[in-house]
Amino acid sequence: MITPDILGDREALALPEGSSPLLTVVVDTEEEFDWDAPFSRASTSVDSLAELDRFQGLCEEHRVSPTYVCDWPVVTSELGQQTLGTYLERGVCHLGAHLHPWVTPPHDEELSSHNSYPGNLSPDLEREKLERLTIAISERFGHAPRVYRAGRYGFGPRSAEALESLGYAVDVSPLAGFNLSADGGPDWSTLGPEPYRFGPNKALIGFPATGGFSGWLGGGAQLHKALHKPLPSALRLQGVLSRLGAFERIMLSPEGYTLTHMKRLTRALLARGTRLFQLSLHSPSMLPGCTSYARDPQERDALLARCADYLRWFREDVGGEMAALPELPQLLRSIPLTKS
Ligand SMILES: [Zn+2]
Repeated sequence: MITPDILGDREALALPEGSSPLLTVVVDTEEEFDWDAPFSRASTSVDSLAELDRFQGLCEEHRVSPTYVCDWPVVTSELGQQTLGTYLERGVCHLGAHLHPWVTPPHDEELSSHNSYPGNLSPDLEREKLERLTIAISERFGHAPRVYRAGRYGFGPRSAEALESLGYAVDVSPLAGFNLSADGGPDWSTLGPEPYRFGPNKALIGFPATGGFSGWLGGGAQLHKALHKPLPSALRLQGVLSRLGAFERIMLSPEGYTLTHMKRLTRALLARGTRLFQLSLHSPSMLPGCTSYARDPQERDALLARCADYLRWFREDVGGEMAALPELPQLLRSIPLTKS
């Protein structure tokens, strides 16, 4: 099973002492597909991009430059090129790459849940798909992508090597605090939300999607470990603690989480010293009916309102500022080793 160990040696990074909390925004920009149906190479519709202006407009209103990590069907579609090309020309967003193996050539792997996580593919096939996607983005948009998110948070043991060789600088693949191993994905439950330098040549900055635990028990590593042992007693304990509000796993996203959840997670992490945050969502949530988070126009509008409310709260109440993911290499510093 894939765990944070596959990231190799990690050097802790942080914002310079005294700087304000920073929020980054990333959108998994991808085709609409039915998560309950088997994976299909034919599900490549990107109609939801016609609604992306709603989100981009909101970002501009709140002075945020989001990073759209784009997958193959988006990059190769006319609507994708038009929509994102316009934002890029106006200088109001950044592009990155997002790999959904089942719709990205070469189509050499068998379709399965296991193979839907790019890091589970053979290193050669993962690299080739990533290279094709990288070239497609460079050719169509005139900029080589420097930010990557693996589809389904599926980073693998050789992903860093491929990213370094293709010129990437920032990886936002892992999802801090979540275990996705039930259908073959990585177990990121012991990974925190802080950034780190990593890769065979230490050329990459890793910055997990912000997730973690809130509640009165907080996020002690020992507790996480105890709760993630695959024992029935640990699962029962987790259930009881979660019902008591002692222990709650939250991703910083308007998808499936309320504004209260998002604020609660942010406060809990701020209290533990976290100052760099990442708000994540998926482009298909812009078109009602495409995701379970926005089944109708009311739910879609409520999702957008949660984003706007959170951005406002982060700036006004937290006193935070906005940053773009490609800026991270300039913003982050190594944490000096403290002498004991
Ligand atoms: Zn995706």
